[in-house]
Formats: sequence, structure tokens, C-alpha cells
Amino acid sequence: LDYTEGIGWHDGRIIPYQPISLDPSAMIFHYGQSVFEGLKAYVTVDNDILLFRPERNFARLNHSNDRLCIPKIDEEYALEALKQLVNVDREWVPNAPGTSLYIRPFIIATEEHLGVHPAKNYKFIIIMSPSGSYYKEGINPVKILVEQQFVRAVKGGTGEAKTGGNYASALKGQEIADREGYSQTLWLDGKENRYVEEVGSMNIFFKINGTVITPELNGSILPGITRDSMIQVLKSKNIPVEERRISIDEVVEAHHNGTLEEVFGTGTAAVISPVGELKYLEEKFTINKGEIGEVSQMLYDTLTGIQTGKVEDTFGWTIRL
Ligand code: PMP
Repeated sequence: LDYTEGIGWHDGRIIPYQPISLDPSAMIFHYGQSVFEGLKAYVTVDNDILLFRPERNFARLNHSNDRLCIPKIDEEYALEALKQLVNVDREWVPNAPGTSLYIRPFIIATEEHLGVHPAKNYKFIIIMSPSGSYYKEGINPVKILVEQQFVRAVKGGTGEAKTGGNYASALKGQEIADREGYSQTLWLDGKENRYVEEVGSMNIFFKINGTVITPELNGSILPGITRDSMIQVLKSKNIPVEERRISIDEVVEAHHNGTLEEVFGTGTAAVISPVGELKYLEEKFTINKGEIGEVSQMLYDTLTGIQTGKVEDTFGWTIRL
């Protein structure tokens, strides 16, 4: 789909995967005006294909568009286009429930211009690729390093938008985590370096003394669709859940007094990822003996169950194609 000033979005089309050609002065190369989404189509136990809350991805895309001064898309049109696209080639559907198709919608500024202003022209593209099945051998807890030196997002910045720049600013932290043998970075707030925000590609939850706590959406955290879904599942099971500010000191203290029961991340790719180890300053904490906790396991089973059609979708989250 293309956007041209004065015309709007036009020329939606499905074409074979291929390189695109852009002028070297296309604004995306210089000023980072880009937004994207990530979602999946899942193969169910009866070999159907379903989408999980895709309308939320297009709503979030428009929210990101607004922050990045990109013209909004028609969310219903985008959803219809996505359905058609997934259905174009059902060949990718192996007879393997749990297998998925990763879907990446994105928008880039294509106006040929050097000088900073919102671009006049854009491209909206959706690419997809088959991705593996859920972890075959159960779920391996991840190790996470609390980042001290760098921040990913600040108040008033672009943190809650899904834009390339946020991921660029996170690279340095990821590099440090990799070097130390950790798989992801836990980001703290950009002002006091004290409140927990999120992990590289997932939102984070702590179970402390029976209550599940996740940082509230404060403008610098990505409003994860899995995060929102899991809060709803927890509420439906009468498990106490709080969205509020939580400092890293509170997490450390809970660990020291034995009330930090579970830590897990949520995300489209991460699904539910239990955190087995956290490192903050020079201290390393093993969480729940490095094993997946009861609540994390229940959320994992519920989410993957709904996504594969094994568990009834009482929330109305899935669209069968
Ligand atoms: N935070 C960040 C920074 C992410 O990139 C993602 C993955 N999109 C998430 C959280 C989780 O969001 P979702 O549940 O919508 O995949």
C-alpha cells in the first residue's frame, strides 16, 4: 500500500516477495520515521489457521503512527488485507499444531528529501515467514540482566510506540547482556533508573506473595497485546493482579525475604517466558529454583491452548481463517 500526499493510502496489492527499490534520499534512511508490528497466524489442532487479536496490532500501529507523524491507516482494510494475504498460500501450513506464521506489518517514509519534517510519502508493507513450533522440550527459563548504564525510553519519548529507534537505542544493552551470558535486558525507567519498565522484546511480570504485579503503562512501555491478554486471564481466574509502578528495590527485597515467587515475560514471540535468573548490580538471583512457576505455566497453557484451538476461546480473541 502506498501513501501519497494529496491522495492518501492507495494501490493495495499482493505481490511475490521481492526486494524494493528506494531512492538514497528516501527519508527512512536518514530520520528513522518507521513503525512496525509483530503478530502470528497459528495452526490449530484441526489444521485451521487462526489470528490472535490482530485488530489490536493495527490499533497499536495507528497509535505508533500518531507518535511518529505518519498518516493513519484504515484498520479494517488492513485486517481484510492481512486475511487475504495469509490465505494466498496455504502451502506454508504444515500438519503441525503450534506451528506459526510470523507476520510483520511495517510503514516507512519514502519521500525523497534531506531535511527533517514528517514525510509526504510512505509505504505500508506486510511480510511473513513461517516460524517454529512452541518449545518442544518444555519452556526454558531465561536469564535477564538489569541494565544500569543505558536507557531504552524516557517520559515523553517514543517508548510506547513500536518504532525502529527504540530498538536501536536498546542494542547497546543487548550487547552487554550477550557478553555477560544473559539472553535479554531488563530496562529501568530513564529518569531515576529505579522503576522496572520492560524487557527487550517482552513485558515483565513479578509474582510477589501471591500477587502478580506488572509495570503500569506509563508512556515509555510498549502496551503488549500478550500483556493485556494475560492480565485478563489472571483476573478471570481470580488471581490478584496489579498494574503499578514497581521498583527494582522492591523486587530485590522480595527476593531477599523469600516472597519473590515467579518472574515471567510476555510477548508474541516470547509467549510466556519464565525468568530463571536476574542480575542486578553485582548480585545474581535465582528465581523459583530456575524452574517455571505455577502461574507462568497456567498462563502458558491457556495462551497456547487458545492459539492452537485446544482451549475454548472464551474471550473472543481469535479469528479463524
Ligand atoms: N515490549 C517490546 C519492546 C516488544 O518489542 C514486544 C514485542 N512486540 C513486547 C513488549 C510484547 O508485545 P506483544 O505482546 O504485543 O508482542
